[in-house]
Amino acid sequence: MTVPLRIQDDGAWLSVDDQRRVGVGELWRFYDPGFCDCDLADGVVENLVEPGVDGRTVEIRAVCQCIVCGTKATTDWLPVGRIVDGEWRDIDREGLLLSNASRKRE
Ligand SMILES: [Zn+2]
Repeated sequence: MTVPLRIQDDGAWLSVDDQRRVGVGELWRFYDPGFCDCDLADGVVENLVEPGVDGRTVEIRAVCQCIVCGTKATTDWLPVGRIVDGEWRDIDREGLLLSNASRKRE
């Protein structure tokens, strides 16, 4: 089953099956060595760029600004939720998010 993922309102929302699920303004702690020089970035989400799916994991690339070092850039693919049996499941986005590239390296 394919669940439609769309970026809405000029990057303000990720909608999954026409329901808004992930929005800008969240603070994500993530491991993405290409993003900034911090060991772990603490990024305020400013714009959602592109959604994707890796298995059951819904991922997104977003423009974030790191509140530690000030870097503003586009992240690698970060996990933001899961699709289980065709339904959206939130993941804990207040925990550490591992970028797709860093997960695959392990
Ligand atoms: Zn940083």
